[in-house]
Amino acid sequence: MSPSKIRWQDNPMILIVEDNRVNQLLMMKIFEKKGFNSVMVAKNGHEALEMALKNNPDLILMDIQLPDMNGNEVIQSLRNKKFAGSIVAVSADALKEDMDRSFAAGANGYISKPINFATFFSQISKFIKVKNDQKNPSQTDLHSDRIDPSLSAAAKNVFIIDAQEKLQILAEALEHAEDENQMGKIKAIAHEYKGNAGYFGLKELESIARELDLGFSNDQPGENLTKLTRQLVAAIISIVDKTS
Ligand code: MN
Repeated sequence: MSPSKIRWQDNPMILIVEDNRVNQLLMMKIFEKKGFNSVMVAKNGHEALEMALKNNPDLILMDIQLPDMNGNEVIQSLRNKKFAGSIVAVSADALKEDMDRSFAAGANGYISKPINFATFFSQISKFIKVKNDQKNPSQTDLHSDRIDPSLSAAAKNVFIIDAQEKLQILAEALEHAEDENQMGKIKAIAHEYKGNAGYFGLKELESIARELDLGFSNDQPGENLTKLTRQLVAAIISIVDKTS
């Protein structure tokens, strides 16, 4: 058995290639929570190439929109250099031709953004072999330490999964704050949290969401709205942190 085969069985090495910091954080947390302790992050295509060829990870999660290269180019380049590990493309573009481009470049799988963290491990499980004494990754397993017999705990779980998706939408929207369509997404999220965060006992989130929702209604300057959006993101991250 080769050394890489042993490592694969015991503790798969994961390389997350992602330029968005919120997405990096969420993905790292989700792997850590599952007990993976060999997780690396590359924030652009060049870092990804260097880290992948040096460390030979078992699985690479490859964002397609990277600041310096297209993720498909990185995949192609890795395959040209005989990288043999699994590569799952992660992209907001989920049209069939987008997927085909990634598969043609050498990806083994494709996940669309925003990532649904409830099904994430079942989507990637076929690309990482787990130890025999581990349960099969599944939706229940992912949040097993959070599931509570009471209904409110179940509702909280749903809330957290939804919050992780919203964080990704907010992060993308903040990157393109000049785009009205993106600002509309922020407005919709602020409005939703204004309506339901209090129900979950999340007073700070509720108050920031109310202020942001009001800001949109009053046509406040863009810089006010992005500042409040950043506060909203920080409040959501803190809630996700406390629950994981
Ligand atoms: Mn990206």
